Amino acid sequence: MLTVCHLYPDLLNLYGDRGNVLAFVARCRWRGIPVRVLEVGLGDPVDFGEVDFVFLGGGSDREQDIMARDLLARRDDLAAAVEEGLVVLAICGGYQLLGRYYRAADGTLIPGLGLLDFHTRAGKKRLIGNVAVEVDLDGWRVTLCGFENHAGRTYLGDLAPLGRVLAGHGNNGEDGTEGARYKNVFCSYLHGPLLPKNPALTDHLIRLALRRRGLPEELEPLDDTLEREAVRVMLRRLKVRTG
Ligand code: GLN
Repeated sequence: MLTVCHLYPDLLNLYGDRGNVLAFVARCRWRGIPVRVLEVGLGDPVDFGEVDFVFLGGGSDREQDIMARDLLARRDDLAAAVEEGLVVLAICGGYQLLGRYYRAADGTLIPGLGLLDFHTRAGKKRLIGNVAVEVDLDGWRVTLCGFENHAGRTYLGDLAPLGRVLAGHGNNGEDGTEGARYKNVFCSYLHGPLLPKNPALTDHLIRLALRRRGLPEELEPLDDTLEREAVRVMLRRLKVRTG
């Protein structure tokens, strides 16, 4: 049995980010892997040691400010679980809060968990549009597609990006990086939602979760014709060539 923890589902759910949880669960169930979802809101207890996959979605600056304090209270638990391989996906506003801080457009400083070495500050112009990113998943080169809409510019310190921007803005529109990656933590600006659009990444996260539990990680192939076609159409529209 895999356990998914959806953090702050009522506060952080921009652009259908909840779809990431639905896709993770569906691709497990279609293969007969039992999975349950814990929805964890402000103040709700959760033991990250018992969780296999944590999802943290995007939110506006206001929503980020509300949940930042609650998340800070969980910092040590989360950090310990991350060190021993907890699989985490954090999108946009959720991503920003795993870093050192987020400086909002009005100057407000929202403290992050400082779990990963990066910081974010809001710029004047929002970075909006479809994105294509090249990532490496266990030696496989995969092109992810998604949609970004953020004011924040994220600058990585001593930390690997999730991937390289092929089209769109990514972390800051300047350095060609998108997202961040540390152990089994995956951060990205890509809504879409990301996992339903990019089944290779979803399966990668499922495999990592199974590996951490010591369960067999071979996954039965599924029919991803529609997903592949959707990505192909988007890449053509973005004039991105792959392979
Ligand atoms: N408030 C953040 C920004 O605009 C996050 C937005 C989001 O999650 N889409 O940068």
